[in-house]
Amino acid sequence: MENIAALYARFQQCAAVSTDSRQAQEDTLFFALNGPSFRGRDFAPQALAKGARYAVVDDANLAATDPDRYTYAPDPLGALQELARHHRRHLSIPVLAITGSNGKTTTKELINSVLSKRYRVQYTRGNLNNHIGVPLTLLSIRPAEHELAIVEMGANHQGEIALLSQLAEPTHGLITNIGKAHLEGFGGEAGVAKGKGELFAFLAATGGTAFLNTADPKLPALAANISHVVTYPGPTDSYPAELVSPDPQVVIRLSDGTTVEAQITGGYNFPNLAAAAAVGGFFGVPAPDIADALAGYAPTNNRSQLVRTAHNEIILDAYNANPSSMAAAISSFAARPGGGQKMAILGDMFELGPESEAEHRALGELLSKQNLGTIVLCGLDMRHAADASAAFHYFPTKAEAAAWLQKSPPVGFQILVKGSRGMGLETLVELL
Ligand code: ATP
Ligand code: MG
Repeated sequence: MENIAALYARFQQCAAVSTDSRQAQEDTLFFALNGPSFRGRDFAPQALAKGARYAVVDDANLAATDPDRYTYAPDPLGALQELARHHRRHLSIPVLAITGSNGKTTTKELINSVLSKRYRVQYTRGNLNNHIGVPLTLLSIRPAEHELAIVEMGANHQGEIALLSQLAEPTHGLITNIGKAHLEGFGGEAGVAKGKGELFAFLAATGGTAFLNTADPKLPALAANISHVVTYPGPTDSYPAELVSPDPQVVIRLSDGTTVEAQITGGYNFPNLAAAAAVGGFFGVPAPDIADALAGYAPTNNRSQLVRTAHNEIILDAYNANPSSMAAAISSFAARPGGGQKMAILGDMFELGPESEAEHRALGELLSKQNLGTIVLCGLDMRHAADASAAFHYFPTKAEAAAWLQKSPPVGFQILVKGSRGMGLETLVELL
């Protein structure tokens, strides 16, 4: 973009940046991004009418109608990203980037809770972790206000984390783990390691600091060329931590001997908690504050949530699913003590490409070997998992599963609910 300085000047007069004309409010800088079936500039007049101060559009004629409020950019998305990079370069605060296959948002929220004990932190809201969300997060950092930023970075193909790193220029980075997620776009699990490793490659090239989860066998190799590495959670690591118990809530012991009872469930959250303790320790948050923050964090986002209804106890993990997180959730659920019967309601795992059928079959095999009680599978891909046992209840759609649950409602069960985001299985909870 030719005139980034002019756009930056306009940005500095605004209180917020938005790409959604419905959310544009007074003092917003609106970027008219194009979607698969719409042109952003069609919404720009509406954004301005709602009080947005400026709009960036790819229509030179429209921009010419009111140059005081329109900025012409042939590629508004590129302009958004470049503005974010430009803004980032004016900031001199630590920026911690978080990527990985599973647990990014949970880890980000936990780290935010811990670091907020001592710093004014800006962090990714919700799951705004892609090529649009990362620039929006960066542009929400205010130099006069924030002392530290946490940026979640998601990816489903090679090169994406490299691009996001170029924008955010993280000084610190953390990869939660390398697992089987977005196999389709990355080209298998080795591709996932390479793609997520782009964050560590950036830190190696720029002298940044990596937080390394030594319990993940694929991660140490990715950190080999980084000069500043902070390790967790092994006994000889910089920040050791120990899983005391995974159920019903995770209990962990920190390096100073403090025991923390978290409000999240599932042993797979142990590395997420340990990561937050390590980052907090590194940035000088006092140990009692770290413990307090970890104990205080309660998810409200369909991730590892423990929900008690009038009839059942539900582990609501319907936010997303892939082979690694499914296996982690199932083994954690199988190991869960407590009386009563168990039921697992599981939906399709999306974005697995050519490996989808084999991964769903493998899931069926895994389920048939566990003593999980009633197994309810729904979604078209789950038919491959359903082949593993005649005892499974299989429904091609969520609606059919819902009808079955209504006819024979479970009472007194522990129920695991998990599937890909597109399945939206959280709506079943009202039937339970
Ligand atoms: P997304 O790719 O959608 O941004 P994410 O990486 O941010 O996902 P979370 O939203 O924190 O991940 O968690 C999603 C689900 O992943 C959780 O509900 C849980 O089932 C699983 N999960 C979380 N942490 C781990 C972990 N460390 N290992 C394996 N699975 C995990
Ligand atoms: Mg996320």
